[in-house]
Amino acid sequence: MTDLRTHAAEIAAQFSDHLDVSEDEVETKLNTLVSEYKVPVDEAKRSVTNSYLAEAGIERDEIGRGGTEEVLVNDIDADEQWVDLRVKLVDLWEPRSDSISQVGLLGDESGTIKFVSFSTSELEELDEGESYRLSNVVTDEYEGRYSVKLNRTTTITEIDEEIEVGDNSDTVEGALVDVQSGSGLIKRCPEEGCTRVLQNGRCAEHGEVDGEFDLRIKAVIDDGNAVHDVIFNREATEELTGIDLEAAKTMAKDALDTTVVADEIRADIVGRYYSVTGPTLGRYVLADAFAELDGPAEYENVLIKARSI
Ligand SMILES: [Zn+2]
Repeated sequence: MTDLRTHAAEIAAQFSDHLDVSEDEVETKLNTLVSEYKVPVDEAKRSVTNSYLAEAGIERDEIGRGGTEEVLVNDIDADEQWVDLRVKLVDLWEPRSDSISQVGLLGDESGTIKFVSFSTSELEELDEGESYRLSNVVTDEYEGRYSVKLNRTTTITEIDEEIEVGDNSDTVEGALVDVQSGSGLIKRCPEEGCTRVLQNGRCAEHGEVDGEFDLRIKAVIDDGNAVHDVIFNREATEELTGIDLEAAKTMAKDALDTTVVADEIRADIVGRYYSVTGPTLGRYVLADAFAELDGPAEYENVLIKARSI
């Protein structure tokens, strides 16, 4: 217990300029982790320190943690991590509050990520289109979406380098277990800028319209651990199934029913194994490249057939 008290005093002292942290409070947090959750003392100290750092948004160097690691933005998958980035400022947005000095989108070859810089951090402003090395930024998560926060300890170094910004590509591999409704031969709203899929000839925004035929597949792929939603657009659907738009229209006309197309597609692909790569949009992976696999054992050696859209 005396040990924890000593650690608590050290931690409280480190934050005395920034937060109102009492030794008792720190000791209680440490004790909970160590006694109740059996966390090693060093790990508990790091965890408690990190929680105060995040609260204060302050100098990690001041409390003697090691150097941060340079990561790719699309590899960020945890909250409250201190990382370094090599990024290009892709887009600046209008801050919604006076407390925010800059907000926008940073990108590297792996994809893009939102960033926020706070007025209190008094950092230099970043310029759109320029590339930077950013040291000591903190990751943040909201509803499964990650962002990074610049803070007072962040160092900004402009770099003379053209960074190609990627599209947050992901690859999912597994059994295609379902073809969802809204797949096959569909109709889209023809209104300018609206590509909504019609339900019974109606657009949710524009009401009854004369829709335009399109092909797509909303599929579910199970990789053994989780299920992933994948969308094949018209070109990808044609390549995957061998059914092109004209053939699909003919099938539907002959059967007097558009659902025959989805039925045929379902019968053709459900139960097969695929590797699908493409940019992510919310929970969807948009199939840019895909390959059929013989089965689960082949995952490691799969050759992904690249295709352009
Ligand atoms: Zn519409």
